[in-house]
Amino acid sequence: MSAQKETLGFQTEVKQLLKLMIHSLYSNKEIFLRELISNASDAADKLRFEGMAKPELFEEDPELKIRITFDKDARTVTIADNGIGMSRDEVVANIGTIAKSGTKAFFEQLSGDAKKDANLIGQFGVGFYSAFIVADKVTLTTRRAGEVVATRWESHGEGEYTLEQVEKAERGTEIVLHLKEGEDELLNDWRLKGIVRKYSDHISIPIEMKKGAGYGENGEVTNSDELEVVNSASALWTRSKNDITDEQYQEFYKHVAHDFTDPLAWSHARVEGRQEYTELLYIPSRAPFDLYDRERKQGVKLYVRRVFIMEDTEKLMPHYLRFVRGVIDSNDLPLNVSREILQESKDIDAIRAGCVKKVLGLLEDLSANQPEKYAAFWKEFGQVLKEGVGEDFANKERIAKLLRFTTTASEGEDPTVTLADYIGRMKEGQDKIYYITADTLAAAKNSPHLEVFKKKGVEVLLLTDRVDEWVVGSLFEFDGKQLQSVAKGALDLGKLEDEADKEAQKQVEEASKPVVEKVQKALGDKVKEVRATARLVESPACLVAGEHDMSAHLERMLKAAGQKIEGSKPTLEINPEHVLVKKLAEESDEARAGDLAAVLYDQALLAEGGKLEDPASFVKRINKLMLELSA
Ligand code: ADP
Repeated sequence: MSAQKETLGFQTEVKQLLKLMIHSLYSNKEIFLRELISNASDAADKLRFEGMAKPELFEEDPELKIRITFDKDARTVTIADNGIGMSRDEVVANIGTIAKSGTKAFFEQLSGDAKKDANLIGQFGVGFYSAFIVADKVTLTTRRAGEVVATRWESHGEGEYTLEQVEKAERGTEIVLHLKEGEDELLNDWRLKGIVRKYSDHISIPIEMKKGAGYGENGEVTNSDELEVVNSASALWTRSKNDITDEQYQEFYKHVAHDFTDPLAWSHARVEGRQEYTELLYIPSRAPFDLYDRERKQGVKLYVRRVFIMEDTEKLMPHYLRFVRGVIDSNDLPLNVSREILQESKDIDAIRAGCVKKVLGLLEDLSANQPEKYAAFWKEFGQVLKEGVGEDFANKERIAKLLRFTTTASEGEDPTVTLADYIGRMKEGQDKIYYITADTLAAAKNSPHLEVFKKKGVEVLLLTDRVDEWVVGSLFEFDGKQLQSVAKGALDLGKLEDEADKEAQKQVEEASKPVVEKVQKALGDKVKEVRATARLVESPACLVAGEHDMSAHLERMLKAAGQKIEGSKPTLEINPEHVLVKKLAEESDEARAGDLAAVLYDQALLAEGGKLEDPASFVKRINKLMLELSA
């Protein structure tokens, strides 16, 4: 049964990735073995899972293992497993293409600088292709458990690969690496065993190698074909914390998370009580490319009594903690637990709630004791964690404490201010937490809405992440203090204003009635209302949303996202102390007053990042005014 050999081309991205990888990862080339062993171990997990329903898949060879051999004469290193294997279609889908979401974003970020790109590629996950760092030809022969025919895939890692139908007695996958010139150091027992122990000790199934060269009991040189197990071969999370080194935790992370960089922190605990389970959960140090991709598959892996059940279930981690990686191993769930059962399971709910607490606890610990690490976490995942304020009602308070902000009192631009910090330095008489939302930090900082707050020295949170509107839409207060937008409703400074301020304001309002009416008349139904304000110091006017209306910023964001929304009309507030407003008050020509009023409105809209409905008319009016000035 020999079918013809077919030649197929790699997906363009694969070609690019291969080139890049060989170039950028060469200095760390030994990781190819870790990647191939990691895949072999996953294949064993998959077989164990499928084998529960179909024991015949084990084909009377139930002991799952990985074997590594090398051949000095042929100059090959071989990694073989008796896991699930792959069908022909699976080989084509998995080995000839990159199915990962976020691929496009990944390629866009490449810089051509080998060092930087090596980091990127690590985040992207290198996997099988890392074989080409050390090999100039790779032959993969695989037979899916339960199937008869096997498939041979072979490639020089350039543009194409061949596929051929072959026979293979053992199920599973065998990968033969034909080493490049100069890689002969890998044809060495000690060297290979050293790499396995360093990177793959945590793999839960045995990794076997020949005993090879060594010394016998009497000091004689032996060279044995007998097999020995090179790794500890027990699931890492089942071991006691004291028996696990940081390096082992880190290597295990790289395996479960398919990440290349060390994790930022982890939590490992055996939980007893109504539910018995072990969790080993990690916070990565870098955000993956597909953090915002709804199709994203990776997450926390669920095991039941050491048997891998499934990955990527939203049932194990809420959406706002989707960056968490690791394993949860339950002692109580049934082995045949299905996705449907998980959906309904109260036990899973309890495990999930417990794990969320662990993760939040880990973050609290970082934030209290390792602020630099917490800052690194915040930079990568802060925006995602913010989603939790609206998503996880039960933990809202805890999450709110973990939030970090840039404010008008911040030294630099980094978000470092907690809500507790803010409250701790509130002005006497201040009873609200003030914030402004805007597209950019510059727009927020320079907003006319902040003028009176600057004058009075009151701190304001500058919210410029897309998710911030969602945060303030869910977090109404913190520690008994209400959150208040500075761009919504009538200005209410509460006790920050004294009686004299209020009296002065009243008089100004009274005196500016005629100009307010004039502007109102000129703008017609463009605005809900025109009023005089004490909010402004330098600017002549600003727009304010109603207390319960959507903010102008949110309205713009939703419109940009293609949503049709009927926004509510803003209120135009004018600063009666400003020369332009005074000029307008004095203007007797109705047409000119109309022009000035229109410019005030358009300016206010521009100042908060809005878009003019009729920019050409704005330009005309401005030009007219400029000509009058120079006349
Ligand atoms: P990743 O492991 O990050 O998904 P890889 O390029 O390493 O990416 O592998 C792609 C896919 O090929 C794997 O997800 C798996 O489905 C399949 N695969 C790789 N190695 C093996 C193996 N030894 N046995 C079975 N399937 C494998």
